[in-house]
Amino acid sequence: GTEPDGVAARPRVPISFELFPPRTDAAAIALGRTIDRLAEVDPAFISVTFGAGGSSRDRSLTVLRYMLEHTSVEPMAHLTCVGSSHAEANRLVREFLDAGITSFLALRGDPPAGAADAEDAIGDLHSAAELVQLIHRVQEEREPFGQSRIPGMPGVTAIRDRPRPERVAVAAFPSGHPRSRGSNQDVDVLLAKEVAGANLAITQLFWHADDYLAFVQRARAGGVTIPILPGIMPVTTLSRLARLEQLTGVPAPAGLAIDLEIEPDADAQFELGVAYAADLAAVVLAGGAPGLHLYTFNRHEAVLAVLDRLGLATAHAHAGTERNTRER
Ligand code: FAD
Repeated sequence: GTEPDGVAARPRVPISFELFPPRTDAAAIALGRTIDRLAEVDPAFISVTFGAGGSSRDRSLTVLRYMLEHTSVEPMAHLTCVGSSHAEANRLVREFLDAGITSFLALRGDPPAGAADAEDAIGDLHSAAELVQLIHRVQEEREPFGQSRIPGMPGVTAIRDRPRPERVAVAAFPSGHPRSRGSNQDVDVLLAKEVAGANLAITQLFWHADDYLAFVQRARAGGVTIPILPGIMPVTTLSRLARLEQLTGVPAPAGLAIDLEIEPDADAQFELGVAYAADLAAVVLAGGAPGLHLYTFNRHEAVLAVLDRLGLATAHAHAGTERNTRER
């Protein structure tokens, strides 16, 4: 903070990234390098996905710990609650807090295919809002009897000195959740999550700036006040574009699909995907988006190329006194 008078630092757009936990040792090593490259643009946080049902818990924690130990980036843990009992969800949140993770993306998660609505497949927590509440309340829950009693003070239970959750993010669906009954429900669900204590929303990917901008407008009209970060993914192959449509239920953009299909050269396809994402990002930023959340697919090349096109990659990498001196 020692900026000389009259020298305005370039406005800093908060950038964040999403990764998924690696499945093999080789992938884990590659991911370490990816994280190091992403860390160079000084992101606000990097989030790590979580397999519904907890299948990736240990691998997710390993990636989050790597960030804590080897970078200065804030790690954000996705957590899902579908299929968990109340006690299991409590234990999970405690475990992450005790590892030093204080940022969360609280999700419901999807029940296993075929088990759609069976009570036991859903578990004790029925929505992301309930998980948000649990994350905030875990502090007040007592430790199991006998674990942390204060010596010499029978009957008094000490509340352990556990870090408090700071950032509690939730998902938002600008193009509608596949199961939602209508756009009002998507806003109502987001509002419920804010009321439960969420302080940030991150959107599912979307392909048209208007989907995001109109959603934010509806959310504000509906009483949502938390920042809504646009989630953007540079997609550089046709097969991935098709796969994403299956995964998210959001129809792929026909223009990009056609461009990728008729372009035979892989490098040119990369440029097409990067340009599409950068254009989308530029429009939502101009429309007031509070930052950019970039889905990485565990690769740094495409997302850094997007930031480069937007003039944001170097602004971050060289932020600080050096830049101020240069701009003087
Ligand atoms: P909620 O906010 O509780 O509900 C979302 C929508 O589903 C609402 O419209 C709600 O009304 C509707 N809905 C919920 N239950 C029902 C029901 N029984 N019947 C009809 N409608 C219903 N998944 C993972 O497993 N791991 C991850 O790491 C992960 N990360 C994600 C990150 C982001 C940014 C996003 C957008 C999604 C992510 N997901 C992840 C997917 C997410 O778990 C699913 O989209 C899930 O279906 C909804 O989760 P939610 O937290 O939005 O749920």
